[in-house]
This record gives sequence, C-alpha cells and structure tokens, in this order.
Amino acid sequence: MIVNTVSLETVAGMASQIPDTKLPEVAFVGKSNVGKSSLINTLVGRKALARTSSAPGKTRTINFYNVEDLLYFVDLPGYGYAKASKQEQERWGKVIESYLTRRSQLKLLLFLVDIRHEPGANDRQMMEWIRYYQFDPIIIGTKSDKIKRSQIQRQVAVLAKSLGVEDRSRIIPFSALDKSGRDAVWDQIEAALRV
Ligand code: GDP
Repeated sequence: MIVNTVSLETVAGMASQIPDTKLPEVAFVGKSNVGKSSLINTLVGRKALARTSSAPGKTRTINFYNVEDLLYFVDLPGYGYAKASKQEQERWGKVIESYLTRRSQLKLLLFLVDIRHEPGANDRQMMEWIRYYQFDPIIIGTKSDKIKRSQIQRQVAVLAKSLGVEDRSRIIPFSALDKSGRDAVWDQIEAALRV
C-alpha cells in the first residue's frame, strides 16, 4: 500500500484520553529501542513521522496516526527502558491495559522483537498479556539486516520457540534499512482489515 495522507491525530497520556475511534486499528507494541518508530515510518513511507529517538523510553503516550482516513496506526509506548522509574513503569502498564481491554476496533496487533536476540522476560510477559486479552499477534523480527540472510530462519525458530508461536508464518523478519518485510507486513494489515 502506498500512503499519501497520514497524520498524528491523538496523543493519549492516560486512560481517560484514549479516544473512541470509528476506524479499524493496527497497534504496535515492543520494548523501547526495538525499532517501532522505524517500522511505522517505513510502512507509511515517511522519514520521521513517528519519532525515532536516541533517548528510548521518553515517549509514554499512546499515539494515534490516522492513515488515509481508512485506519489508525496505534503506537503503544515501548516498555523495558532501564532508566524508567517504578512509578513510570506502573503508569505504562495501566495505559496499555486500558487500551487492550475491550478494544473491538483493534484488528491487528504487531508485536516487535529484535530478531538477533532471544526475547527477554519482559517480552515473554508482554506475550502472556497479549494472549490474556485474546489477541493473536503478528511477530515482527526487527533489524533483520543486522544478521546474515542464512541466519534469519534460525532466528525465526528461536523467536517461535521462546514466544510459543506455532505458526511460523506469523513471524515476519523486517528491516527498516533495506525495507525487507514491508510488503509482508502490509499484506497482514490488509488481510486483517478485510475480515
Ligand atoms: P523505537 O524506540 O522502538 O521506536 O526504536 P527506533 O525506531 O527509534 O529505533 C531504535 C534504534 O534502532 C535507532 O537507532 C534506529 O536507527 C535503529 N533501527 C531501527 N530499525 C532498524 C533496522 O531495521 N535496522 C537497523 N540496522 N537499525 C534499526
């Protein structure tokens, strides 16, 4: 898909600010610095729509991007930033939880993990949470340009095992650098919007 019009429509810093949108939503979640902003920017073909930052964890808001008046990209705050205070982490949990609860507009959840590493405890915790809310996410293995092509399938197997994903087609290796995986991610988004 080629995106012509996209804009940041709502920034929600607390549960009460989460809007009751009228369009289907695709949400993005993952550890801070995993490459979430870069994925969003790549999907919409913009260099700096979502912030790619050298200060991970600064964003504690849920950002709603209106894409072509067709759908929203919902950028959930990244977790696991070492320097975040306990209070901040708790606030983060509350905001995410209030979003995931009863979100009938949410058609697809994209869960990002770095393809190079075995998911950490907080990633596995997130996966449990996602399942608890009965979402079946697509896993995005980010930064795939950082490993050899020959290692990609091996790392996909590592992610599948660690996160308990049986269907390997639900894991997409992705690189914001060479844009590989972009079309596969859009295919999943379009399929999710059709149902
Ligand atoms: P976020 O905190 O999850 O939004 O992560 P960002 O998109 O800001 O990316 C964090 C860092 O990883 C930045 O320095 C990016 O340039 C880098 N990065 C993100 N995606 C990729 C990728 O696909 N390949 C490579 N090599 N670097 C990436």
